[in-house]
Amino acid sequence: MNYTHTPPDLVAVPVVGTSQLFPVHRIYCVGRNYVEHAKEMGFTGREPPFFFLKPADALVVVPQGSTGEIAYPSQTQNFHHEIELVVAIGKGGRNIRAADAHQHIYGYAVGLDMTRRDLQNEMKKQGRPWCIGKAFDQSAPMGPITPLAQAGPIETAEIYVKVGGQDRQRSTIDKLIWSVAETIEHLSAAWELQAGDLIFTGTPEGVAAVGPGDVMEGGITGLGSLSVKVA
Ligand code: MN
Repeated sequence: MNYTHTPPDLVAVPVVGTSQLFPVHRIYCVGRNYVEHAKEMGFTGREPPFFFLKPADALVVVPQGSTGEIAYPSQTQNFHHEIELVVAIGKGGRNIRAADAHQHIYGYAVGLDMTRRDLQNEMKKQGRPWCIGKAFDQSAPMGPITPLAQAGPIETAEIYVKVGGQDRQRSTIDKLIWSVAETIEHLSAAWELQAGDLIFTGTPEGVAAVGPGDVMEGGITGLGSLSVKVA
């Protein structure tokens, strides 16, 4: 092909236990999907699921056992961690029923929905899109994908993130307001899901700021851990 400039690299995530890579299509994110997090954001927790997106090249893929690095982003004084279960879609579709959702899941991973909270709050106040608060460069660090069959029962898994060795967020996946299957049902009613899509399923309570030099260590039972340093 005769391109006008060099095409960007394909974004791909390693798969645990194989040499295969999972090529990424889109990154969908669920907002306010744990009751206690919705409350700390000033909401009741009883509302239909809603979604936003991050560009695929916002991913920072961190191999198991190493510490990834992200830059402290521009224009913020309140840079927050949100530890999240990430669902990797292996088979696309539209209008997928929750009962069939598991057939569309390739695997799971641990991710961080990094957020410029001050910018997000300002956009909320003005009724403007969240992009500047959520969809900036390096806003989506994640670990490798564990295939569904090796992941164990995700519904009862624990999810946590520590900063500097201190607990910041700790909860269980069964506290999701909209389960993984229900999320896939709602999402696929609005967009046609494709193989390669990732879904950041929402964060539990305890979101807080990090600064240069901080190391975030997160994990989910059965999916390993994710270590990311803010440079
Ligand atoms: Mn989030």
